[in-house]
Amino acid sequence: MPAIDTLPIALGLENSYARLPERFFARLAPTPVNAPQLIRLNHQLSNLLNLDPEVLTSAQGVDVLAGNQVPESSEPLAMAYAGHQFGNFVPQLGDGRAILLGEVVGKDGMRRDIQLKGSGRTPFSGIGDGRAWIGPVLREYIVSEAMYALGVPTTRSLAAVTTGEMIWRETIVPGAVLTRVARSLVRVGTFQYFAARRDVEAMQLLADHVIARIFPECAEAENPYRAFLDAVVAGQSVLVAQWMRVGFIHGVMNTDNMSVACETIDYGPCAFMDAYHPETVFSSIDRAGRYAYVNQPYIAHWNLACLAQALLPLLAADDETAVAEAQAAVDAFPGLIGSARRNAMRGKIGLVSEQEGDDALLQDLLERMVDNRADFTQTFRALCDGAAADPDISIEADESIRSRFSDPQAFDVWARKWRRRLQLENVTGETRKAAMRAVNPAFIPRNHRIEAVINAAVENSDFQPFHELVSVLEKPYDDQPDFAAYSNAPEQTEIVHRTFCGT
Ligand code: AMP
Ligand code: MG
Repeated sequence: MPAIDTLPIALGLENSYARLPERFFARLAPTPVNAPQLIRLNHQLSNLLNLDPEVLTSAQGVDVLAGNQVPESSEPLAMAYAGHQFGNFVPQLGDGRAILLGEVVGKDGMRRDIQLKGSGRTPFSGIGDGRAWIGPVLREYIVSEAMYALGVPTTRSLAAVTTGEMIWRETIVPGAVLTRVARSLVRVGTFQYFAARRDVEAMQLLADHVIARIFPECAEAENPYRAFLDAVVAGQSVLVAQWMRVGFIHGVMNTDNMSVACETIDYGPCAFMDAYHPETVFSSIDRAGRYAYVNQPYIAHWNLACLAQALLPLLAADDETAVAEAQAAVDAFPGLIGSARRNAMRGKIGLVSEQEGDDALLQDLLERMVDNRADFTQTFRALCDGAAADPDISIEADESIRSRFSDPQAFDVWARKWRRRLQLENVTGETRKAAMRAVNPAFIPRNHRIEAVINAAVENSDFQPFHELVSVLEKPYDDQPDFAAYSNAPEQTEIVHRTFCGT
């Protein structure tokens, strides 16, 4: 009999995706790595998933997180999908560097996928090496967990490990594997994959799979597939409005990077804005600014039209009705995102009741922020302290807000209008302040901090800055005076202008 510690780990995974037909995926195990070492395990998430942190941090557990051992209950696979990349349709992409290990049902009753990213080549790798380097792995861990704490729907990070192998990017860099957790890894591009092959049977099986798992209420609808499309349209409006609220720029909103579970997925050259400008773009490959901050609602709309088009054969028996159903579903998006975004932004300046001129008031602030290079996060956070409608009470707080503007008087002019407007609200200044603090974070994963974390890891194998940043970002709405420096905007020399893909 083998010793206890050499028994394969079970983990109790389920594999509903592996029950779908073979043309949905390629079955293969992750490719083992030289010398895996755990960087970090997310204990809170591990507990939520009913996965024992002690098991996952053991040598065998780390082997699983690195892909050196496949849990007994796992049926590992790489998922097939297609997608529009920067507007151009690519009929086959698929998991080129990721392996789905299986699913777990968490303590909250929710089923989630567990996937390794950076786990070696697959039949979908093309010329890629199937690996990830430590930079994008740390970035995804930091940003996805920060998004979760900020209250934005997102895939999460269960663990990060180093592989003990060096890989080639522009230079030689240390390899790493991220364990990603998602409500579903089905993308708009997964539907497009089967639509491009006119495989209606597969599309129906895929839609039924997603409905059963994410949108069970749609199964009861008169037209379940139309209800499913409506649900994704609504879910994406909520998601993108939240991105706008926190100043997040996804960077590569290709249809293969848009989840039908409506979580933020595929963190690549993503970034949070420092100084507010609607046209902000960070991604080095987004030369035309297609995925700029302000364009995100339009791109989501475009992507949803791609989903609707793929679903046409399921929406109705005849073409004309199908097109009408698809059009009606997609046409709802501008209204939904418009109001979701407006509500999110109104909350940031403490407005509860709706009054004429509110949109103009908000727009005026944003324009003044652009003109005065005001930091997005800091300005709104400082605004919370000035939430009293009485200008006399707010003088001290205003000093802190004004200083964010290159011409502080630009704020004063707006503040007078804002306070007059606040007097129409039926809440106390304290209540308003608390509500504003709950939607205006003090801490976001700033680019210059992420870069510093990655540099320390690559140059000195020092993960302390990574751990500290992750832990500060667990409570983005608390002041955390000991870590106040993390809320600072970058100095002129620290500003990061470009971010790069994970590949
Ligand atoms: P992404 O940039 O994550 O949206 O990836 C686009 C496509 O490229 C997906 O099909 C990925 O699986 C694939 N890909 C990205 N990086 C790699 C890599 N290092 N090796 C193999 N495939 C990759
Ligand atoms: Mg992707």
